[in-house]
Amino acid sequence: MASMKRQFSTRASYPVFVCSVLLLTSAYAQNSPSVPIADPQIAAALKQISPDRIQANIEKLVSFQTRLTLSAQDPASIAAGHGIGAAREWIKSQFESYSRDCGGCLEVKTDSFVQSPADRIPQPTTITNVYAVLKGTDVENAKRIVLVTGHYDSRNSDTLDATGIAPGANDDGSGTAVSLECARVLSKLKFPATIIFLTVAGEEQGLNGSHHFAQMAKTEGWNIEAALNNDIVGGDRTPGQDASTVRVFSEGVPLAASDVDVSRIRGLGGENDSISRQVARYVAETARAYDVGIKPMLVFRLDRYLRGGDHRSFNEQGFAAVRFTEYRENYNHQHQNVRTENGVEYGDLPKFVNYDYVANVARLNAATLASLASSPAPPAKVHILTKELQNDSTLTWEALPGGLSTGYEVLWRATTSPEWEHVQTVGKETKATLPMSKDNVIFAVRSVDDKGHRSLPVVPVPER
Ligand SMILES: [Zn+2]
Repeated sequence: MASMKRQFSTRASYPVFVCSVLLLTSAYAQNSPSVPIADPQIAAALKQISPDRIQANIEKLVSFQTRLTLSAQDPASIAAGHGIGAAREWIKSQFESYSRDCGGCLEVKTDSFVQSPADRIPQPTTITNVYAVLKGTDVENAKRIVLVTGHYDSRNSDTLDATGIAPGANDDGSGTAVSLECARVLSKLKFPATIIFLTVAGEEQGLNGSHHFAQMAKTEGWNIEAALNNDIVGGDRTPGQDASTVRVFSEGVPLAASDVDVSRIRGLGGENDSISRQVARYVAETARAYDVGIKPMLVFRLDRYLRGGDHRSFNEQGFAAVRFTEYRENYNHQHQNVRTENGVEYGDLPKFVNYDYVANVARLNAATLASLASSPAPPAKVHILTKELQNDSTLTWEALPGGLSTGYEVLWRATTSPEWEHVQTVGKETKATLPMSKDNVIFAVRSVDDKGHRSLPVVPVPER
């Protein structure tokens, strides 16, 4: 993030030339960056992800009757297994049981606060996020965090109905189940960087839980490299669903961009290169390396029309975050009282959820989390030299502490291409000159290790 915020002058610095020579950039590519090397340990872990466990977890979440953020959380209701308090305690107990199975490897925590009255919060309400931390094994790299989240609160037709049935099997029992299953499976492995498995509340009342969590992370200086938000990943069984595809939404111009950032983005065509979009591309690349059973469809917008989600809270604090959502939503099965009208069934019931689909989404999340947590830190202070007008392009960068990187790769693509197209291996050098014009392509640099783990790519900022 630091390099993204670096200040520079855009004033009359980047004149636009009409270039009469089109460089054939592919001539310089050493190999395609689109097929990364699979890590056998990660591939084996993905096989442990269980649709049956996911089904059991979603059915358990539904059994609390409602998980509305305003619903009961007093001891008697928790004991009776009703309301959001009971759901919260159960999620905590699940994380704790996974931790027992890995010799106490997970630190299970809560982030609890009183939300003062707001739009959909009529009175002061305690909101509790529950999370488990799988601390990185390498001192320096443990400061790097990748995170998966889903919201465990639910709602029916009325966002203030604290007692009516609100099963929330898909929205967002499915995302909660993804966080839980990733925690169960990945806690059996060790990674140099830290993974956080998060479940938040308050989403349906106004993203309150994730807002508090992301703000805490920002205030405490956490280095969250990527947040993966899963919200409505149940693969609703309605005709028209594409069970082989999950959408991955990522913001373009960052919500947290300063005026200086926006000015640079406008001047250089950086609309498709937010740090969140690099995470989306990383998800797509990871899906090609592992047998996850599902294909991510990258959607280059923050979210769907008229809708929001918890990744936004992370974006607002300047973190990279994306949203996973099923290919086709059935609005009769979201935010609806359970009922049948004119033969049409309404309500977010478990029977509409495709558990194999949720398991595949969990595999894609787990593969992405594990790849990022295994990778060396991304390069720091990535710059592209713009001291004079040249047809060559020179990039410089610095290694981050941690020592996991055995080299670097320069990536590039046409300005009109959605994903990275070419890669040049540059060994341990922290400078590279490529015989092509920076005016015609978008560059990035990433760190690699000798096992094929790759960091997130970092797009350079101009240096004069
Ligand atoms: Zn939701």
